[in-house]
Amino acid sequence: MKITAKHYETYQPITIETGDGQIQSIASSTEEADLWISPTLLDIQINGFGGHSFNGEQVTSESVKEIVTHQWSLGIGAICPTVTTNSQERMLHSLRCIREACTDPLIANSILGIHIEGPYISPVDGPRGAHPLEHTRPPSWDEFCAWQDAAEGTICLLTLAPEVEGAIPFIEQLVDSGVIVALGHTNAEAEDIDAAVRAGARLSTHLGNGAHATIRRHPNYIWEQLARDELMASLIVDGHHLPPSVVKCMLRCKGLKNIILVSDAVSFAGMPPGRYETKERAVEVSADGRVSLADTPYLAGAGLDLASCVANAVQFTGISLADAICAACLHPATLLSRDDMLGSLEVGKRADFMLFDWNNERIEVKQMAVAGEIVYRTEKEAVL
Ligand SMILES: [Zn+2]
Repeated sequence: MKITAKHYETYQPITIETGDGQIQSIASSTEEADLWISPTLLDIQINGFGGHSFNGEQVTSESVKEIVTHQWSLGIGAICPTVTTNSQERMLHSLRCIREACTDPLIANSILGIHIEGPYISPVDGPRGAHPLEHTRPPSWDEFCAWQDAAEGTICLLTLAPEVEGAIPFIEQLVDSGVIVALGHTNAEAEDIDAAVRAGARLSTHLGNGAHATIRRHPNYIWEQLARDELMASLIVDGHHLPPSVVKCMLRCKGLKNIILVSDAVSFAGMPPGRYETKERAVEVSADGRVSLADTPYLAGAGLDLASCVANAVQFTGISLADAICAACLHPATLLSRDDMLGSLEVGKRADFMLFDWNNERIEVKQMAVAGEIVYRTEKEAVL
């Protein structure tokens, strides 16, 4: 395959040749190019999309596939399906369905590893967020091993609260086994965060969310995490979870290279605006992607895809589109030690790229390739 388009960082037309699923050559081109080319995005925190979820009793391998293929149409080439606080049985079911979906090689290429968020988190209202109280619990190595067995060793990231009893030795065990540890849904004191970082924690999950509505001005768990250079920070830049000013301050404080954009999208993401009744609750989806508990001011999860969060990051912070894209592909790939394969356009890396239009407000994906296979194209733009 041979494609000519404008490079997302240099703005210059380039021609990329692919073969064996990899980028074989990149050369500057004198041809005119209308579309931009960049690596595909990588979402390390996504709970569902378009009416499907990775969590709950409805999960099937088919619903997992639906979520992945929907992501392809939006510029997201790889994800870490995120399995959240639930009973051991439910969590095992989700993990098995995700693995079953990976028997399809195209789907397997797009599932980089699994993110477990909870259940070893704060039971306190606020930090716990929407995770069910009855299923929060202290860490258990045996339980984790059962998940990792069901996931065939593909759990790569785990979010926990470091103040929960037994969390620090558990972090050490996870790090020894090669799992990346993130802090989130936490009510930690400064010393808990310090101990977690010294045990090897590497990320703050959706920093500024999964927190009390009101906290002591200082010290508090947000400042303490912001100040630790060892911790990258993932941010939900959907325009609803964090005000633009907070996104800008966190990005400047951490430094761009330590920022990872995530969607944290739930099953209602990507659904038409309206009111949805579920067994447990009524949810309202607005035209601008806000997902709230109906008739309340409370969020019920995130409703935008990662490409929309990239566009918001440009608007909120003044960084370039190229920098915002890096925060949604190269930086998460670096966290997961997959930057040898993903995250930038380089010879020898996997041929994961998207062709898109950019109007300074949104990314409009025209074509997507994952491992050299076209996984999505708009009919009009079928130039490959
Ligand atoms: Zn969360």
